[in-house]
Amino acid sequence: MLLPADAVIALRCPVCGRVELKSLSLFAFARGRAVELICACGTTIFRLETRDRKQFLARAHCMACEEWHVFECRRRDIWSTEVKELVCEDMGLEIGMVGPYSSVKARLRSQEKSLAEMARDLGFSAYFENADIMCAVLEYLYEMADNGRLTCRCGNRDVEVEIFPGYIQLRCAECGAGGVVAAKDNDDLLRVEQVWGMRLTSRGVHMERRQAGPRDGRRSKK
Ligand SMILES: [Zn+2]
Ligand SMILES: [Zn+2]
Ligand SMILES: [Zn+2]
Repeated sequence: MLLPADAVIALRCPVCGRVELKSLSLFAFARGRAVELICACGTTIFRLETRDRKQFLARAHCMACEEWHVFECRRRDIWSTEVKELVCEDMGLEIGMVGPYSSVKARLRSQEKSLAEMARDLGFSAYFENADIMCAVLEYLYEMADNGRLTCRCGNRDVEVEIFPGYIQLRCAECGAGGVVAAKDNDDLLRVEQVWGMRLTSRGVHMERRQAGPRDGRRSKK
């Protein structure tokens, strides 16, 4: 049986609200060391420890009730082929998840998508400066991401997306490059509509125009 050696934890920080990810390697627990996830804002939000690499104790700083919750788990709960949810029993809410990287990323993506859709459908437009524009811009971004047209200068294609009231923040977890895409008015939407792809650089998001001549790898006849 092949045991997946890597898993990833995704948890929303109760202090600043961003979703942080950390890969959990079974090999990181040599001599009983604990693995911690510290948010970019400095808050410790997750801790995983074990003595024997069979039984694990996970502690998560809950974004719903702001308490620490303890989860006892076995190795195969964390390193498996399926995503496991971390649930706050008090609030009955999913506060995070652990599992294979690609599945966790896919779920986060659909959660963000549904968050924006929900905001629009339920009229929670107060959060966004313009919920319709935000949803439309997000649709373009997800389409670019699905088609490999949202990339980073370092070659990473797995760009982190965070949604704010008037803009979307893109960031590469590999090299830290990134920037923001405005999504608050019609001009912002028009700009994104004319873009074929986006590339993260150290100075922000570089937009590649749709009609800026032949695409990469395809030459015109001349
Ligand atoms: Zn934080
Ligand atoms: Zn809780
Ligand atoms: Zn990068």
